[in-house]
This record gives sequence, C-alpha cells and structure tokens, in this order.
Amino acid sequence: MKVSSMLIKEGVIHDPVTKKKYQADILIEDGQIQEVAPTIDRKGHEVVEAKGLWVLPGLIDMHVHLREPGREDEETVLSGMKAAINGGFVSLVCMANTDPPVDDPSVVDYILAEARKVPGFRLYPVGTITKDRKGSQLSEMYLLRERGVVAFSDDGSPIMDALTMRRAMEYCKPLGIPLILHEEDLSLSEGGQMHEGFYSTLLGRHGIPSLSEELVVFRDSALAEAIGVPV
Ligand SMILES: [Zn+2]
Repeated sequence: MKVSSMLIKEGVIHDPVTKKKYQADILIEDGQIQEVAPTIDRKGHEVVEAKGLWVLPGLIDMHVHLREPGREDEETVLSGMKAAINGGFVSLVCMANTDPPVDDPSVVDYILAEARKVPGFRLYPVGTITKDRKGSQLSEMYLLRERGVVAFSDDGSPIMDALTMRRAMEYCKPLGIPLILHEEDLSLSEGGQMHEGFYSTLLGRHGIPSLSEELVVFRDSALAEAIGVPV
C-alpha cells in the first residue's frame, strides 16, 4: 500500500481532525504527506487529478466477514483486504463466525499471519464469546485477547442464557475490550420469514416481532450497566 511519491491535485479534502472541508493539493513523498497547500507544482511525481472528488483518510469498516478459515470460496482474508483497499478502506474489524470460529488462539494467529501479507493494512480480528458460538461455554477470552482480538462477538447467534451473558461481561471487563452482541430471542423469532406487521399478516408469512430484539437489548443493557462494561 505504500505510495512512494504522489501529487493529488484539486481534490476536496475532508479532514476529520479539524472537521473542515476544503480544496487543496497534497504532496506525498516516501509514503508520508509532506505538504497540503492550495496549489503545489512539483515535477517527478505521479499526478492524480482529483478535481470534483473527495480525498478522505483511510476508512475503517467495523463489521466485515472475511470467511476464512472455512469458506474460502466466498472470501479469504487476502481477497477481503484487497477489496477493502479498492474501496478506500485500510482498517477492518473481522467477525468471528468463521469455520472453525475464532474461539481458539491458533485461528487468531492464522488470520493475523494472513493480514501481514498486505503491509500497512490494519486487520482487527474479533474472538467469539462462547465456544463454537453455541452460547453456553465461554471461550478462552484471556488467551484470545493476548493473541490480538479487539472485541468478542458470537455474531450471527444470540446468547440466550442470561447467566452466560453475565459471566461473559464479567470476564470481559478486566480485559478492557467490548462485547459486540447479536440480540435476538430465538423463542420469538424462530421460523420467522420477515418483519412482523401489516405485510406479514397480509402475505400470511411468519413474522419476526421487533420485541425479539428489544427484549434482549433490555436484558443486556441492564447487565452491562450493572457490571460496568461497554457493549
Ligand atoms: Zn455480521
């Protein structure tokens, strides 16, 4: 990803630090921004004409599925990172519902080893909350954290048992990283084909009530507040 020398002309810069938006030229040398000014004329650089375009810092996607290991036919760590770069993203948080899931330190090691194939790319793996995302036995959260996960999630599957969620929050707290939760009460949503409401009734389809999500959000908000963890 390293850009050795480049001159970006007349782009509209969106600066998230100053929260300002303005048109300017950007001079990059040895992979570093050297100058930002209304007009820069310098020879010997690759020139990118960006008139009418936005110039943004590398974007971050907080929720992606790279599917490796297990479903390399859909996506690999490498193909996902390349797609991200083409879309302007340089940092990804990748979810844990691979096959096997990220419930073992060796899976974290593998993903991070693949990530290093694209120098400069920032890939942040998420570990599972429970073993095999089954919602019962907690993962080795401490070991996963040590190996480099930045959050825990059973994304795609809810944790139906309140005590398991409570224990997960208690273990997570000293590790200083958040839980990312899939909130769904399966007893209310199971078999659902669409949102429960006027159209599900009209079409005679089994609906999923909003309450199937809201009830678990209430539960986990109360638990998180009581334990004092971010979710
Ligand atoms: Zn997801």
